[in-house]
Amino acid sequence: MTVPPIPGSGRSGAHNAPLRGAAPERLSAPDAGIAAPWDTWRSREALQQPHYPDRDAVEDVTTVLRRQPPLVFAGEVDDLRAWLGAAGRGDAFVLTGGDCAETFAEATADHLRLKIQTLLQMAVVLTYGASLPVVKIGRIAGQYAKPRSADMETRDGVTLPSYRGDAVNSYEFTPQARIPDPARLLELYHHASSTLNLIRAFTKGGYADLRLVHHWNRGFTQNPAYAKYESLAEEIHRAVKFMEAAGANFEAMREVDLYSSHEALLLEYESAMTRIDSRSGDAYNTSGHFLWIGERTRDLEGAHIELLARVRNPIGVKLGPTTSVSQMLGLVERLNPDGEEGRLTFITRMGADKIRDVLPPLLEASVADGRPVTWTTDPMHGNTITSSTGYKTRRFETIMDEVRGFFEAHEDVGTVPGGIHVELTGDDVTEIVGGSEELDDEGLRRRYETVVDPRLNHQQSLEMAFQVAELLRRN
Ligand code: PEP
Ligand code: MN
Repeated sequence: MTVPPIPGSGRSGAHNAPLRGAAPERLSAPDAGIAAPWDTWRSREALQQPHYPDRDAVEDVTTVLRRQPPLVFAGEVDDLRAWLGAAGRGDAFVLTGGDCAETFAEATADHLRLKIQTLLQMAVVLTYGASLPVVKIGRIAGQYAKPRSADMETRDGVTLPSYRGDAVNSYEFTPQARIPDPARLLELYHHASSTLNLIRAFTKGGYADLRLVHHWNRGFTQNPAYAKYESLAEEIHRAVKFMEAAGANFEAMREVDLYSSHEALLLEYESAMTRIDSRSGDAYNTSGHFLWIGERTRDLEGAHIELLARVRNPIGVKLGPTTSVSQMLGLVERLNPDGEEGRLTFITRMGADKIRDVLPPLLEASVADGRPVTWTTDPMHGNTITSSTGYKTRRFETIMDEVRGFFEAHEDVGTVPGGIHVELTGDDVTEIVGGSEELDDEGLRRRYETVVDPRLNHQQSLEMAFQVAELLRRN
């Protein structure tokens, strides 16, 4: 398997992460009292922001945040941008996965380990299927804030502010718990920091060793429910054996890069985490490597676009089924006017029944525009339903149908399906129906644990990876 060089970094190999060049980077915040160049978002309309009762407390917290060390570094962010450029050209494939909403309570070593393990297992299967490096991105270490369709929630005649993620308020349905508390932004920072520490330890400390991850995957296919994936697993096994026999340097492949991402929703936090890189003079959002703008906050004139237009990070934008060609081109113009590869990723979330109609005209217009875009599919958010037992759920088969529709649309237009973006957990939860274990509406009761959207459990995530690997092989 040959691996194309990582653009811009002089490195090669998806599995390798040599140290970057000698110049030490310094990321600094502007001095107190001086407006930052990215503060222009403050004069734009900011949707989906918490209504904090005490503005002075917000000031105090953001002053502290501005003094905290960056969570991610400019060099890493630049590497990811280059990788996303490669995925846009068809030289890599992106796997983004993690919770709809991380919670402070579940930012524990056990939960994180299983989530990281799941992503690594999926990545090995996809790498084989695509014969390409897989760019691994977690919805992790910062995915703590949620946009909501309603500001208020009513239960049994009681109306309180909606839960907006642990970064804003508490899930518990009491008046006190639901008041937005800016001190939670600091908690968010510290949880993101300890999560990133664990990710760095796991991915650089031998836990990501291909042979180990492959061994876990063999365990998965030994379960009779997943026997149909055994032949693909066997092929991977032979490939690993072949590499071993041919003298592949497994020691050098013990490390992987796992990047962090989240929806850049809370503008006070995202803005306070933005720093100037001393080497380039450019602004970087140091709260995560990849930031995306959600379907509800992607207004061209809005504050979210204004803030992210001013940082160097690779940016994603969710595109729902009503996205027009002019909105899409407006986003390219606002976020990637110079047409830099890897800068802009569109994450389509159209719904399985719409993607085959809605996506092709957008792809055609993007080709005609000529500026590069990396296209990925979120097959989750357009396919949410309520089960007969009253749970917010999704069907595994419908999710896979949207993924297939995504591949078909790209095939029709001659563009590159660059990756998948999914909500998953490493735990054995029961939130999504279907899959080979045939979880049904009744089964949802067993372990329905998500605080917002339903996630693929560990087994369903691996099953998806095997199915996507088959699609990639045909591609
Ligand atoms: C999400 O990714 O959890 C989300 C809210 O997505 P969207 O903005 O596409 O609805
Ligand atoms: Mn979600």
